[in-house]
Amino acid sequence: MFFRTLRFRLTLWYVLLLAITLAAFSAGVYLALREILYDNLDDSLEARSDIVAGIVSESGGRLDVGLPGETVEGDEFIRTFDIAGEVAFDNSPAAQKPPIDSAAVGTALTGGSDTRGIESAGITVRVLVRPLRADGEIVGAVEVGLEDDVGETLGQLLLAIAVLYPLSLLLAGAGGWYLAGRALGPIDTVTRAARRISAEGLGQRLDTEGLPDDEVGRLARTFDEMIARLDDSFRRQRQFTADASHELRTPLTALKGQTEVALQRDRTPDEYREVLRAVNAEADRMIRLVGGLMTLARADAAQIPVSKEPVSLRGVIRVATEQVRAAATEKGIDLRLLDGDDVVVSGDEDLVLQLVLNLLDNAVKYTHGGGKIEVSCRLDAGWAELLVADDGPGIPQEHLGHIFDRFYRADAARSGEAGAGLGLAICRWIAEAHGGTIAAESTPGQGSRFVARFPASS
Ligand code: ADP
Repeated sequence: MFFRTLRFRLTLWYVLLLAITLAAFSAGVYLALREILYDNLDDSLEARSDIVAGIVSESGGRLDVGLPGETVEGDEFIRTFDIAGEVAFDNSPAAQKPPIDSAAVGTALTGGSDTRGIESAGITVRVLVRPLRADGEIVGAVEVGLEDDVGETLGQLLLAIAVLYPLSLLLAGAGGWYLAGRALGPIDTVTRAARRISAEGLGQRLDTEGLPDDEVGRLARTFDEMIARLDDSFRRQRQFTADASHELRTPLTALKGQTEVALQRDRTPDEYREVLRAVNAEADRMIRLVGGLMTLARADAAQIPVSKEPVSLRGVIRVATEQVRAAATEKGIDLRLLDGDDVVVSGDEDLVLQLVLNLLDNAVKYTHGGGKIEVSCRLDAGWAELLVADDGPGIPQEHLGHIFDRFYRADAARSGEAGAGLGLAICRWIAEAHGGTIAAESTPGQGSRFVARFPASS
């Protein structure tokens, strides 16, 4: 479990990367230092051999080195060879004469030079052999040796690296662990809070107050917004179910009441007919209600396909007007289709027809006998506009903002004819599903005006 935490993995990667970087860096320092130290040592050897070359003289095949002949202690020595390769001068201690490399001497006598390392009495000595010249002619060779302490210095460097390398990794690991913990801590807090929310209900929110506007803060806020949307949608669903059950109970209670009263004693056929007619009317009401509920439920689940075909708005209005004309005439209402533009919208003909029918049904339903309903359509700045105006009782201002809500009825007491309050909710869904809008204006006592707008198809 511990090894699967993000904190552990982040720290591990951090330490691994640092280990590789540090190793490469140490190797670079080691190699560069080695190069520099050997360069310096070789320069010293060169300088010494230059001195010998400056003071040596040759006469008749014999070399004369103007140096004190006594041997030196330690590991520095100078040795010269004559042109025949014989030792002419040697101040190395007799007990530990460095071995002569005749191949190197041969190279020097032919003009080349050679550097090598030798072990002498447990000490590493670096040796340079190069030619000696007099008047441009090779007259012999000189060999100089100096203690080679480069290896020792490099060994000390290696020791320092060996100690500091794991120490730095340990320190970096601890720092990385601490930093990763600090960075990831808020995520843990958010996770715990999210767990609490799922346990205690969607009403809870994360405490995003103190969180900064960084990745974690944004995550927490997005999470809160998501929970708020879920909460809202669950709440609406619960409300919808409760309202739907309530609406269904009313006609069922009426049905039950009527049939029960009818069954209390024997009735005449006319009385039975009367009851059946009432039952039939209630059944119609329920069919309409259930139809509306189904439309909205399927719309919520995005199950109703909204096709995009060219629909003549005027054609749809004409069909709808004819469908409600009988009801309007029966109530003595003057239903008129006014002249206007024939606008084409891209949409679903059945749904647009349902929208117009719902508006006209309402107008006929709420307008008093002898009233007037005017329907028209026009093109307005790229919008296809449908207008349904009546001179009915109108809608009080305080209700105007709600009449498109589900189950909302502006005046429940008044509405002997009123439906379940779903008609305008369906209209709004249809308008919005087409990328349009719907709005109502009203002057109470003078009438209402409904305006639906769809994007006109060009
Ligand atoms: P309902 O099934 O009750 O007609 P709607 O959603 O179609 O439901 O309408 C909601 C409410 O808006 C109605 O109850 C009514 O009070 C009011 N309303 C709708 N159209 C009109 C209108 N043309 N004139 C007056 N009031 C209206």
